[in-house]
Amino acid sequence: MKQFDPGSMIQDFLVFGEFGDVNPSITDSSTFTFMSPEKMEELFDHEIEGCFLYSRHWNPINKYLSDALARMEDSESAIVTSSGMSAISSTIFQICSSGDEIIASRTIYGGTYALLKNFLPKLGINVKFVNITDLEAVKSAITPKTKIIYTESMSNPLLEIADIPELSFISKSNNLKLVVDNTFSPMIISPIILGADVVVYSLTKFANGTSDCVAGAVCSTNEFIHELTDINSGASMLLGPVLDSYRAASILKNLHSLHIRMKKHSENGIYLATEIEKLGFNVFYPGLISHRQHNLMNELMNEGFGYGGMLAVDAGTSQNADKLMFKMQENHVGYLAVSLGFYKTLFSSPGHSTSSEIPKEEQIAMGLSDGLVRISVGLDNNIHTSFERIVKSMEETGLLEKVHH
Ligand code: PLP
Repeated sequence: MKQFDPGSMIQDFLVFGEFGDVNPSITDSSTFTFMSPEKMEELFDHEIEGCFLYSRHWNPINKYLSDALARMEDSESAIVTSSGMSAISSTIFQICSSGDEIIASRTIYGGTYALLKNFLPKLGINVKFVNITDLEAVKSAITPKTKIIYTESMSNPLLEIADIPELSFISKSNNLKLVVDNTFSPMIISPIILGADVVVYSLTKFANGTSDCVAGAVCSTNEFIHELTDINSGASMLLGPVLDSYRAASILKNLHSLHIRMKKHSENGIYLATEIEKLGFNVFYPGLISHRQHNLMNELMNEGFGYGGMLAVDAGTSQNADKLMFKMQENHVGYLAVSLGFYKTLFSSPGHSTSSEIPKEEQIAMGLSDGLVRISVGLDNNIHTSFERIVKSMEETGLLEKVHH
């Protein structure tokens, strides 16, 4: 386990608003005044600390949120974006040009998978999907055209753990950039500390935690964030995925309780995973001894935040999964909804989207079943009651009886 404490890093993040406000003022301007034309010219030439030009480039509240995230990740710098997808696409467009290649984990969020598989080839960027836990497969996919190794720290939907230090070694030895999506495990895993070059986030999920907006972030070196925001060539400046400043202000406030929320998500997550496994179901959760990368997870995780709030349960068939989720909603376990990291429990069936590349035998060997129910465990005060409601739902759908035969 690592001793790094992202919670204390956020705790130490203290900014004063315009009038000493305890929450920094929300930037309510798209543009900023200059006291002299020379200063404006200078800012066009290079960024000046504390000086703002135009809100799509930078504005004070977005800068505060970015700085807080950089602290949390222990990266030199960060920039917030209007969505997780724009954080991912800006990063890729900044690094890759036509003719380049990316090596990507084959078990990633469906939207990222679709971007990489369907969209990037239109721009001449080709992607090889690999089993990211097979380091030999990663190495043999590298060619002189490769620019990026792309992975999620905890994969979707089986919660496989990427060996970030090993992937970092491979990428550094080949002059590549290791880009890690840490959306499922903020505070729990610190990819920059483990050797990643760029960390991307969908802030829409745990980081914000209230499912009231869509937002993203890129954390990396000063150099890379400068490249992204360059007035003449930066993807985040020129493609324009700016985060609205009202949203940046509300996410910053929520970020200050993230350490408490992650601990509670994890406490509830391990309880449900353990109890559901005891019923005889195949459960995927990195905190379970039965999880394939349980030991690796123990090595990589920061101490004190647990194993996270995401788990997957195999209900056998997609029909069983549908019936179970319907009953779980009826019995007030939570909501049948996509997304994750909310204070309420959310569940959905990951379906086939990102699994289509994986040969059927491998899908079976991995435990990637059509009947998977992905659960994002909420901040329930009484998780025992939630478990009883899940059991009731399993009984009402006849699943409990089936699993015992
Ligand atoms: N990365 C992961 C792991 C996700 O789960 C998601 C969305 O579900 C995204 C990225 C995309 O983020 P957004 O919806 O904020 O664009």
